[in-house]
Amino acid sequence: MVALPVLQSRPSPATPPRSVRLSLTDRCDLACVYCRPDRRDGYLEDRLEIDAWKTMASGLVRAGVRRVRLTGGEPLLHPAVVEVVGFLGTLGLDDLALTTNATRLERHARALREAGLRRVNVSLDTLDPARFRRMTRGGKLDVVLSGVDAALAAGFDEIKLNAVVLRGENDAELEDIVRWSWERGIVPRFLEVMHIGEGAKLKDRVVRASEMRARLAHLLANGDAVAEADRGPAKYLFARHEADGPGRRKVGFITGTSDTYCKGCDRLRVAADGTLRPCLATNDGLSAGQIARGGDASAIAAAVDDAWRNKPDGDVWKGCTEPDAASVSMRGIGG
Ligand code: SAM
Repeated sequence: MVALPVLQSRPSPATPPRSVRLSLTDRCDLACVYCRPDRRDGYLEDRLEIDAWKTMASGLVRAGVRRVRLTGGEPLLHPAVVEVVGFLGTLGLDDLALTTNATRLERHARALREAGLRRVNVSLDTLDPARFRRMTRGGKLDVVLSGVDAALAAGFDEIKLNAVVLRGENDAELEDIVRWSWERGIVPRFLEVMHIGEGAKLKDRVVRASEMRARLAHLLANGDAVAEADRGPAKYLFARHEADGPGRRKVGFITGTSDTYCKGCDRLRVAADGTLRPCLATNDGLSAGQIARGGDASAIAAAVDDAWRNKPDGDVWKGCTEPDAASVSMRGIGG
């Protein structure tokens, strides 16, 4: 086990990590302009095999994890993604979700649902094919839309759309994205560009959530945006005119830049090589790949405790606005 440099050694936070993001693979078939510089920016050499992932998952549950999200990289590029979901489905979790760019969702949606996946987040920044191609450096919008249709047909408990808002690119599209999502029973969410990786080069293109909200004011109810219990940092506003029953139509905002949300963060990340990473905004982590390969879930649980001790103190740590964040690869850490 190799412990990478730590941020601030301190006693384990009172609560164990309850939520984990597993970066099944750091491979991705897109190169979004705020995420990575191009498609040839290098990949991890030492990725976990399927049995090691199973040990990892069992150990995480022993350590107190109750909610798992598969991400990446692009998780649907992993050849065993359905098998991993099926295994996770046997662990009695409170939530099992996946974040995807949806390029392969059409072929996998039904099998994932049948394997026990409950919720899907689709990352989709624009409904304009040319803009989509530009923002993803070559992606095809029609393929993604077919993936969304397949997810709708598969009957997941919930589908959310995540759109990163980039000034001068898709910031005039917010209303179109909201209406398109609501028509399909999808929950749209808008993300500020975070100063992570390539995002750190786009500081002048950030649209703050307050501005997004102002642009959508005619669609949204007044009042404070509210977080959902155990569902991460997004805060939601409901529709001003509720057409389909109370609470169904809402819009989420994720303020990774204007209002960091580190206090109370209960999230751990596991990179594709088995590194346990207690914070999105730093490269610090504890290498647990060899432990996972050894097959001992209780040793993973102990490693999780060790890694969790290095969780930055959310009272002082300002997440993605810390200078360290610029050197983090979202794709590598499991964004
Ligand atoms: N490939 C999957 C996908 O596209 O959803 C999962 C991995 S991707 C890194 C996860 C999320 O991180 C996506 O919604 C993406 O838009 C978001 N993301 C990446 N870099 C970001 C940045 N600098 N600021 C805000 N969000 C970012």
